[in-house]
Amino acid sequence: MLSFVVQKHAARQLHYDFRLEVGGVLKSWAVTRGPSLVAGERRLAIEVEDHLLSYGSFEGVIPSGSYGAGAVLLWDRGTWEPEGDPVADLTAGSLRFRLRGEKLTGGWRLMRMAPRGRQVSWLLIKADDEAARARSAPNILEESPLSVVSGRSIEALSANTS
Ligand code: MN
Repeated sequence: MLSFVVQKHAARQLHYDFRLEVGGVLKSWAVTRGPSLVAGERRLAIEVEDHLLSYGSFEGVIPSGSYGAGAVLLWDRGTWEPEGDPVADLTAGSLRFRLRGEKLTGGWRLMRMAPRGRQVSWLLIKADDEAARARSAPNILEESPLSVVSGRSIEALSANTS
């Protein structure tokens, strides 16, 4: 079973770090607006450096002065299942997969966009299935903002810096 985690990260700009276990590391994307359960809705996912598997259980505050300073909240976690060969699909820039998290489930896709500058941008898109939501349904980010491990909010974590 491969793990995935989504860490809500109150850095200079709030974002959601989406991480998939591939080949013993966490392949990582910073999803600036967070994932959407609305089928077909594209969310920009900026490729960032691989992280150690052990980082996937981190929740706490990165001290000021350090890279990524700010609170990190375990927003979701669970297992994921690639539909094909994940290494080949990531290289090709199109990965289809299923998530079994506490908040994110069902089919998803990551699609790499044409390169622009140094930033490698992907789109994270929910597939149209039973786990998808209508555009009029509640936004999962607002409906379920808290940590799946501690039940804390990002504000509570941020305030707890000392
Ligand atoms: Mn981050």
